[in-house]
Amino acid sequence: MKRLYECRDRLQAQMLHDALAAHHIETVILGDYLSGAAGELSALQFPALWVVEEADYALARQLIDRYLSEPEAERLPWRCSRCGELMEAAFDLCWNCSTPRDP
Ligand SMILES: [Zn+2]
Repeated sequence: MKRLYECRDRLQAQMLHDALAAHHIETVILGDYLSGAAGELSALQFPALWVVEEADYALARQLIDRYLSEPEAERLPWRCSRCGELMEAAFDLCWNCSTPRDP
């Protein structure tokens, strides 16, 4: 386990966790206030993302940097320009007809 990134909130931690899972990188969210008992100091901590396999660390950092530098719009679901299927943001290809996402 290696500490990867301190997230600004639980929602961001979950988004990054899901984005990395799409690349088959296993992460866990620690330091999350939801897991601490009420009134403990841990309530003041930001949730941190930890990568389970240290060998994945470099790639995970790259993916996070890329992910955080993307405009919000690119993280929203997108619609295939060819067949009209709605795709989750994590996918770069249409699962239905394999058309790449528009740049
Ligand atoms: Zn399609």
